[in-house]
Amino acid sequence: MKKTLLTFSIAGALVLSASPFTSTPAAAVGNGPGYGGNETINTSILHTYEEMVSYLKTQEAKQQQLELEVIGQSVKGRDLYLAKYMTNPDNPTILFLTQQHGNEQLTTEGALDFIKHLGTGKMKGVTDDVNILIVPMLNADGAMGDVNFSLDDYIADGGRNLTRYNALEVDLNRDHVDKIQPETQALHFNVMQKYDIDYMIDLHHQGANSERDGKLVSGSILYPTTPNADPEVVERSKQLGAVVFDAVDSTGWGHLGKYAGGSAETISRNGIAVEYGISTLLFEMRGMSDHYREDYVLGQKSNGYLIKQTVTTLDAAVRAIADGSIETADTSFWDTLAEQRTRQTE
Ligand SMILES: [Zn+2]
Repeated sequence: MKKTLLTFSIAGALVLSASPFTSTPAAAVGNGPGYGGNETINTSILHTYEEMVSYLKTQEAKQQQLELEVIGQSVKGRDLYLAKYMTNPDNPTILFLTQQHGNEQLTTEGALDFIKHLGTGKMKGVTDDVNILIVPMLNADGAMGDVNFSLDDYIADGGRNLTRYNALEVDLNRDHVDKIQPETQALHFNVMQKYDIDYMIDLHHQGANSERDGKLVSGSILYPTTPNADPEVVERSKQLGAVVFDAVDSTGWGHLGKYAGGSAETISRNGIAVEYGISTLLFEMRGMSDHYREDYVLGQKSNGYLIKQTVTTLDAAVRAIADGSIETADTSFWDTLAEQRTRQTE
């Protein structure tokens, strides 16, 4: 079993090296190229919304199992997409959600790579035993900087700025109880309430200078922490976290901390666990694609390993659900995993 996984990750690395993003060696995690904002943050190498849609449609045409669905529209009228691999309604189902915050795009780049990866022979048989739902770039307007507020302070170069908020300057990941924004409604009404989902990973980016055990992290993870979540749902979330932690931390370049998160149910990690009984995991990757704060953005030289971190995460989760090993994953690591801390800069 271990051997199979190892074989895959080498193959996965080869697949990724063909992508337009340059892979970065392990050393990149340590001090992080571009930390401090001195290196160019170039958004032109990221998929635009239109390029993403075109990519998805190309993959849909190539992949028999892949079906696209439009789940709604953004404030500015962009169609929001769900990519579906639904082999058997009786299979367990996992949802991957990216870019609720429009300035956190490498998660989407990773999800797109993963979709291509699902169409290759490397995943043969896996999708027979698990249903996969992917909502990439939920905040499409923010990702395109097509918003009703000023972007003057944003740092990135490359033709467009990317914002956390949607076009109306609302944080979508605080809208999971009220569900006022069209993007949040699309997700809840046409995905959460329409499909029988067991697991969800909500993919984000955090600031660039968090550390665990004295070393800068490549990301952080957390399960639902509201007291209203069913303990069994939380335990399965912790198992999902165990699968992800093992896969990422064993790569050599991955180093994860425990995210210091609150109990508000307006955020998806908590709210979706309570409302639907779905086991959720928050994954915060290092460094954002754009921001008005320098300590939040990360130079593009880190893109390779961070995109690979998303693919590694999605692949590991899908395989562990498909073969059932997630149900016996050891969650005790959570008891000793240190909460990440912000490194003090001089
Ligand atoms: Zn976020």
